[in-house]
Amino acid sequence: MRGIPAVEDILHWPAVQALEARVGRRFLTARIRETLAGLREQLRNGPLPGADVPVAQPLLESRIHKAVEQGLAYSLLPVINATGVVLHTNLGRAPLSREALQHAAEVACQYSNLEYDLATGARGQRDAHASRLLQELLGAEAAVVVNNNAAAVLIALNTFAEGGEVIVSRGELIEIGGSFRIPEIMQKSGAVLREVGTTNRTRTSDYANAIGEKTKLLLRVHPSNFRIVGFTQRPAVEEIVELGRKAGIPVFEDLGSGCLVSMAALGIQDESPAGESLAAGVDVISFSGDKMLGGPQAGILAGRKDPINQIRRNPLFRALRVDKLTYAVLETTLQAYLANQLDRIPSLRMMQISLQDIEQRAVSLLKACSSAQSELHMELVSGESVIGGGAAPGQTLPTRLIALRHTIYGAAKLEKLLLANQPPVVARIEADAVLLDLRTVFPEQEKALAEAILSLASN
Ligand SMILES: *Cc1c(COP(=O)(O)O)cnc(C)c1O
Repeated sequence: MRGIPAVEDILHWPAVQALEARVGRRFLTARIRETLAGLREQLRNGPLPGADVPVAQPLLESRIHKAVEQGLAYSLLPVINATGVVLHTNLGRAPLSREALQHAAEVACQYSNLEYDLATGARGQRDAHASRLLQELLGAEAAVVVNNNAAAVLIALNTFAEGGEVIVSRGELIEIGGSFRIPEIMQKSGAVLREVGTTNRTRTSDYANAIGEKTKLLLRVHPSNFRIVGFTQRPAVEEIVELGRKAGIPVFEDLGSGCLVSMAALGIQDESPAGESLAAGVDVISFSGDKMLGGPQAGILAGRKDPINQIRRNPLFRALRVDKLTYAVLETTLQAYLANQLDRIPSLRMMQISLQDIEQRAVSLLKACSSAQSELHMELVSGESVIGGGAAPGQTLPTRLIALRHTIYGAAKLEKLLLANQPPVVARIEADAVLLDLRTVFPEQEKALAEAILSLASN
């Protein structure tokens, strides 16, 4: 250990001084300390091969150099999503189009009319950039955007029911990933949860019997990521609306994923367009921007003018607002719906790829990997792609998968090697095979994927 030079001395080495000129002393010193700590740790486990006492200067210099490069590398990186889960929450949910990002770059790299009304030359409202499109697409009187759907639910509950009771069915007290639970968000909103019915069956009369002086809101929640099948009952949205009307209590529906148009053409049956809830008389709905919609992370609130204005006046609205980048990407996404050009939205495009196209691409990939060593076995198998994002949980899209097996490495080892690839490849494991689904791999990523597979074989 005594052979390790002091930080002060290292800072005088010419190669290190050259680094300092690039990155500054503060950052460099931290990297040197890191490198020395690593070295000490290593030396505790025995002498370094090829390193003498004192520790050779070139060895340290190269390690410091590496530490500087690593310290300056991005943490947020693109990956190849070969899982077949289109809206993968851990992989950034909906991938965005270049077109949308181009609009965002154009708006954000210059000044914009974010909150400036060009017609009057006076202060404007930022929601103007999405409201008009959302109103038209949803048939809503008004619409606003907040940071995500969790924020939308929070502000809706707080606006309509703080200090009062919210009636919700026991069958809808859901938890979705990332610790969003209806009872907890309710508590934070300052409203009191009034559960009615049972897990599998709730009737309109259960809601009716629970309505009292303290009731401020009737809440309906899309049971996003699970299905109860068998002996079940859930009132139609029209019945809840009628009940609310009679009692003079507003109805709010958290649609979770939500969608603007029928997804039946994609083989997705249980997501009805969000506008249908409003047409049925629900006062306010909310849904995510980056689930089925295929846009940026955002929470969309739409409905009647008065309740939406109430939300807009809530001080929380200022705390939960979104920035110009979100508006730019959302505007591009909504425009694609308005023009009925859904293939401008990458996630929807992926959901529409046919089985034949996926199979054809998989066969080409197998061909591109035909030089792989004989230890690596690749075959085509049938399987299912998943929508993800809590949308249509019971429904999958038929696909063709590439199953990878290795005579020496198990599937877990192959998975690890794929994750260590540049770019990282994220795959599924089933029955001791690594499964690759090209539905969620962009065609321009296929070459890199083939290289990743080939490098497995030569590992
Ligand atoms: C996904 C989801 C949310 C949370 O939406 P985020 O946009 O992820 O914040 C809330 N409620 C339901 C029913 C959901 O499915």
